[in-house]
Amino acid sequence: MRTGQPLKVHIVGGGIGGVAAALFLARAGIEAHVHERAGTLRETGAGIVVPPNMARLIEALGLLPQLEAVAVRLEAAWEFRRWQDGRVLFSQPMGQACVALYGSHCHVVHRADLLALLQQALPAHQLHLGRRCTGVRHDGDAVIAQFDTGDGQALDVHADVLVGADGIHSAVRPAVPGAADEARFSGLCAFRCLVPAERAPAEALRPVQTLWLGPGRHLVHYPISAGRLVNIVAIVPAGDWRTESWTAEGRVDDMQAAFAGWDARVQQLLAAATDTRRWALFDRTPLPTWTHGRVTLLGDAAHAMLPFFAQGAAQALEDAAVLARCLQGVDAAGAPAALQRYEALRRPRASQVQQMSRGREVRNHLPDGPEQATRDAELARGDPLRDSAWLYGHDALAEAGPT
Ligand code: FAD
Repeated sequence: MRTGQPLKVHIVGGGIGGVAAALFLARAGIEAHVHERAGTLRETGAGIVVPPNMARLIEALGLLPQLEAVAVRLEAAWEFRRWQDGRVLFSQPMGQACVALYGSHCHVVHRADLLALLQQALPAHQLHLGRRCTGVRHDGDAVIAQFDTGDGQALDVHADVLVGADGIHSAVRPAVPGAADEARFSGLCAFRCLVPAERAPAEALRPVQTLWLGPGRHLVHYPISAGRLVNIVAIVPAGDWRTESWTAEGRVDDMQAAFAGWDARVQQLLAAATDTRRWALFDRTPLPTWTHGRVTLLGDAAHAMLPFFAQGAAQALEDAAVLARCLQGVDAAGAPAALQRYEALRRPRASQVQQMSRGREVRNHLPDGPEQATRDAELARGDPLRDSAWLYGHDALAEAGPT
């Protein structure tokens, strides 16, 4: 047993969760190494919401100025519109109200910009590209991650703590008994695309997250990349599409056809799209455990969720912050207990967000009729900014205790 020596922490996956974990661990005095299967830092993806609970953690890392340089501050949190005529069902100013309530703005950002600013803050020698984890073995009191380095070479990495931050199809997850990935097909898919600002209708350039609700489908858009692009996510019935991949190509014609007959502004925005990704939406049941001995899970590997609460990345950052606090000052002998504490703090909350992300599709997709009229009346009376205190007001660092 290695006691009194620096803790050897290795992280599989150099996405938002894995890199953020290494940054929070550095603040806790631990030099963690990140192993990413991609050979370069070229990133795909589209827009992502940075809600206040996540923005405050980025601020804690000292990276808020970098975020603000590439993100857009949402001045209105939500603007709901009716599919047929664009009638505003509900709108709530966010800006200063959000700062007053939750100590931060809500931002929207290109996922690649967010990942880049996190990666730039990580010393280069801590990020190992081109390493695909192929398995994990327990060897007495140690844990060993096996990697394929792409040149036919296998590499074993010995760790006191191994963190699986390798996303929805995690290779580390099988090392945690009981953490089987049970996916349920939702029957829906998401088209996602980016439209250059100069091709988008003026309304879509406002710093507003707009949700258009209609029978069986809905569409969300907001500007990103300091206003240079408009991010579109359109949720529609999947038909026979079953590919669960952030990067699979879809057909723009199919996306446009799904919104035929909708308000002209929606059709104008979709007409400006030249390409689209298409991603089948699978749901996950919360895992009964994330941790086994010296191995734990973080981010999508632990709690992949439907996108309806826009909290995937935020929950990954909360995991990262709490994990680092739990490991601070701990030696190799104490690491398994520290990981149990991390899981105890994080799993109930992340599971709750995962479960709450279910069911939204029913409410958002009601056919026109009495139920839809009731929903719209409730929307008009609602105050989602205050109702989200449990989500946006949560202080992950305080939860994990003082440093
Ligand atoms: P991920 O972001 O999935 O990162 C996991 C990382 O692990 C990736 O870099 C992956 O290459 C790496 N990895 C996987 N397997 C291995 C392995 N065997 N060995 C080594 N490394 C491995 N969310 C949105 O809300 N909107 C989006 O538009 C969006 N686009 C996305 C596009 C892509 C390409 C990806 C990967 C994710 C996207 N997400 C998006 C998801 C969102 O980023 C996550 O919910 C959130 O950030 C949690 O991050 P994570 O680090 O846990 O997982």
